[in-house]
Amino acid sequence: MSPASRRRAPAARTAERLDAVIVGAGVAGLSAALWLRDFGLDAVLVEEEARPGGQLHEIHAAVPNYLVAYGWDGARLAGAVMSDARAAGLPLLVGAGVRRLSARGLWVERNADEAGGVTRVHARSLVVATGLRRRVLRVPGEAEFLGRGVSHSANRDRVRFEGKPVVVVGGGTAAIEDAILCADAGSSVTLLHRSSAFRARRDFLEQARANPRIEIVERAAVTRILGEDAVTGVAYRVRGSRTVRRADAAGVFIRIGWEPRSELVRRQVRCDAAGYVRVTATGATSAPWVFAAGDVCSPRCPSIANAVGQGAAVAWEIGRRLGRVRG
Ligand SMILES: Cc1cc2nc3c(=O)[nH]c(=O)nc-3n(C[C@H](O)[C@H](O)[C@H](O)COP(=O)(O)OP(=O)(O)OC[C@H]3O[C@@H](n4cnc5c(N)ncnc54)[C@H](O)[C@@H]3O)c2cc1C
Repeated sequence: MSPASRRRAPAARTAERLDAVIVGAGVAGLSAALWLRDFGLDAVLVEEEARPGGQLHEIHAAVPNYLVAYGWDGARLAGAVMSDARAAGLPLLVGAGVRRLSARGLWVERNADEAGGVTRVHARSLVVATGLRRRVLRVPGEAEFLGRGVSHSANRDRVRFEGKPVVVVGGGTAAIEDAILCADAGSSVTLLHRSSAFRARRDFLEQARANPRIEIVERAAVTRILGEDAVTGVAYRVRGSRTVRRADAAGVFIRIGWEPRSELVRRQVRCDAAGYVRVTATGATSAPWVFAAGDVCSPRCPSIANAVGQGAAVAWEIGRRLGRVRG
């Protein structure tokens, strides 16, 4: 049965209140918006970046596990997503993020103009689809040299450092994979990991350990990224030693994981210890009429398929509660 045939007559709607405000226009938010539109509900999607798509813009390799777009890279996927959003006429407010959200009052505030004006938007329901952000080291030089030697993707940037020394920071699969990619590109690689336990895929780790171009330094804490116009090295200290060591590097790949962007709601809805929003199967949070979808509530399975599905589930639940869907 198609969703349209499950709909009921339109629910009464107050003029000044939207049915939903969705925060974040990654695939989770976009999917929720598309379904809400299909149910004839009034929703807006607020995105702080100038364009929708979220993490899709960061995928530089072929996506091997998403139906219909098998083998596409992130740019192609993001392009398709943006064109779908345009074709469906999704109500997108881009370029200014939500800075405050009230789970109890059911409103969000965003910067409305360059003069610093703020608009408050009330809704019957809120959907938090704010995704993840990269973890950073918070050491001197990291932000200054971003794009001038500091990178988050060997897939994209390793060719710039071909044949030159690089440092990769991290101990998960992404870090080990980057180390192997850089070594394959002819770089000598120093992999710095803060502990001696690795969370990486075992086959990748074995490959890295066997590679003569990769030196793995365990229990190493980065203290500074060094350079003048561009990166020249990394200063680090091995736990238990006071000596600051230096690894020469033209490039530094920081791959230390991701964290949920849940700060808007962290004190208002139940979250786990790592800050992921806790939700039910329908995306409901601990606050009535506040929902979450996508990576911000998916520590176990951050993926495009999951985010798209959760966006749909949340919209379905909002549609059901507002009398637009049976079930
Ligand atoms: C390098 C890389 C490779 C990947 N490879 C794969 C793969 O092969 N297969 C796969 O399935 N998945 C892959 N993923 C993961 C996949 O891209 C994500 O799981 C998915 O895109 C998450 O979508 P999302 O909508 O939940 O969050 P996001 O894409 O993170 O979107 C969240 C959006 O919310 C916005 N936002 C945040 N805070 C605010 C605010 N306060 N106000 C307004 N807007 C806000 C952000 O700007 C962003 O646009 C990969 C990810 C990366 C980075």
